[in-house]
Amino acid sequence: MIDERRGGAENFRPSRSIFGYPPPKKPERSVLPIPFLLPFLSFAMRIGFGFDIHRLVPDRRLILCGVPFHHPLGLLGHSDADVATHALCDALLGAAALGDIGHLFPDTDPAWKDADSIRLLQIVAQRVHAAGYRIENADVTILAESPKIAPFVSAMRECLATAMDIPVQAVSVKATTMEKLGPIGAKEGIAAQAVALLAESC
Ligand code: MG
Repeated sequence: MIDERRGGAENFRPSRSIFGYPPPKKPERSVLPIPFLLPFLSFAMRIGFGFDIHRLVPDRRLILCGVPFHHPLGLLGHSDADVATHALCDALLGAAALGDIGHLFPDTDPAWKDADSIRLLQIVAQRVHAAGYRIENADVTILAESPKIAPFVSAMRECLATAMDIPVQAVSVKATTMEKLGPIGAKEGIAAQAVALLAESC
């Protein structure tokens, strides 16, 4: 309807917003400035993968994720040859781009002869923290035909979590056989894979 008080039709302006007129108001600026929110919104997550394999031999203790097993064979290596902990160390180092376990603890160094691999994991976790990262979670898979791993999984998770100083809920340990295929299936060795997730420390 034409408002007679405004004059003729040439001065017509609709009193309500129809057909996009008048244009909608610009949205008001956020109460919180974006730079204030950035530290909470942008944080880097980094993933790392580790793999290791050791040969099974007589007259060696078998230790997996820091837990000793009663087993006729043990893993051969310069340290205690805890293959699962070694894979986890490499996953953490890989996520932080800090090299690998062989670089950090060379098997030519007598200091690491028969070393407790859980102690190596503690050192790796400290290096990761010092580089500005927080360990979010880790997942380890052991590939072994024997022994049975399942009864020891809780103790293994506890041991790894304590070494990394993170909650046990953030650590997973799983095991699988190789269905008697290949050298692992023939009980010539045990292998392990691990993934770890890091977040930048705030
Ligand atoms: Mg190794």
